[in-house]
Amino acid sequence: MRYFLFIPLLFNCLYGVAQHAASLPPGIQRLLSAYPLHLKRYENNHIVWKDGSTIRYDDGRLKTEEEAFDSTDLEDQMNALTYEPGIPVDTPTYNCDPGTLRCQEFFMKMYGHSEEEVRRRLVAVTWPAPKPGRTKRIWVTSVNGVNRHLQAVANELAARPHLRPYVTDIGGTFNWRPIMGTNRMSPHSFGIAIDINTSRSEYWKWDHRDNWQMDSVELNLQWRNSVPLEIVEIFERHGFIWGGKWFHYDTMHFEYRPEMLPARQGKAVAKPKGKANNRS
Ligand SMILES: [Zn+2]
Repeated sequence: MRYFLFIPLLFNCLYGVAQHAASLPPGIQRLLSAYPLHLKRYENNHIVWKDGSTIRYDDGRLKTEEEAFDSTDLEDQMNALTYEPGIPVDTPTYNCDPGTLRCQEFFMKMYGHSEEEVRRRLVAVTWPAPKPGRTKRIWVTSVNGVNRHLQAVANELAARPHLRPYVTDIGGTFNWRPIMGTNRMSPHSFGIAIDINTSRSEYWKWDHRDNWQMDSVELNLQWRNSVPLEIVEIFERHGFIWGGKWFHYDTMHFEYRPEMLPARQGKAVAKPKGKANNRS
C-alpha cells in the first residue's frame, strides 16, 4: 500500500487520460485482463466499467492491517500480497493471506449489491455426489462465467475417483453472510466461492473455537491441511484461489479470483451467443 501510493499519480501526470494497457502498473493490468466483460480501462486513478461507471483505484491512505481489511481499495486488493499458484504448500508466511483483501464496492458492483440481486444470477453446476456415478446440483453465479469455470472443475474432479471423498458432501456455495466475526461480506455472498468437504479439511477458527479472537502470536496458529494439492491445481487452472494458502488457513475454501492468478489461468469465458442464462 505504502510503496504503490504514488505510482498511479505519476502515471496520470505523464499521460493525463486513459493509458495503454502495457504502460500500466502490473496490478491494474491484471485486474483489467481478468474481467474483460466488465472493465474497460484505467483512467485518472479510476477503473472505468463498460457501463461508464467508475471505482477509484487507490484511496491514497496509509492503513494499519485492520484498516486495510475494513476499507480495502482496489490497489490494496491487487498489490498487498501475492498469491502463488501451483507451488507445493508448506507453512504459509506469518499473517500472509493473499486474496483476502477484497474491495467490497468492486465485488458488489460485479456480482450484486443484495442477496436478491446475487440470487437472480445464480445458475446450477452439476457436481459429483457421494455415490460413484451420481451427481447433484450446486449453485454459483453466472457472472464472469463462474458457473462454467466451476463446471470445468467438476468435470475434472469427476474423472478422478480418488479425489471424490474430498469434494462430495460439500460445505456450501452461495450464502449471503458476513465473514465469521467481521462486518465484511464473505465471498460466498457473491456466488463465487465453494467449500468442499468440511470433514476432510481444516479451518483455523474451528481449530480455535474458544480463542480465535486472540492475537495470532498468542494463538500460536499452526497451519494444517489434508486436501490433496491435485485438487488445488485443478481449481487454480480454472481461476479459483485456495484458502489453504493462507496463514489463517481455510482449506475447504476456493473462490473465483482470476485477478490473483496469471492471465492464462482463470481467463474469462466469453458469453455464449444466443443463450440467456448468463446475466453478466
Ligand atoms: Zn468458504
